[in-house]
Amino acid sequence: MVYTVYEHKEGEIRMKVSVDQDLCIGCGLCESICPEVFRMNDDNLAEVIEQPDSISDTCREACESCPVSAITIEE
Ligand code: SF4
Repeated sequence: MVYTVYEHKEGEIRMKVSVDQDLCIGCGLCESICPEVFRMNDDNLAEVIEQPDSISDTCREACESCPVSAITIEE
């Protein structure tokens, strides 16, 4: 099982966005919804490239839109 994780610490709050690349089917939806956080890698699997200071609405939308629930947001 492979995870791509980017962690950001702000004050006492630690947020983590992860993509389970074993679940990812490479649809590209997350990248199209929130390209500032997600991109497709050379294997056509989503990875996390950047995390905003707070979880943006588009990042949440990407998470909720993933057809295989491969994206997790922990706050
Ligand atoms: S929306 Fe889900 S399945 Fe589609 S590319 Fe992103 S992580 Fe993979």
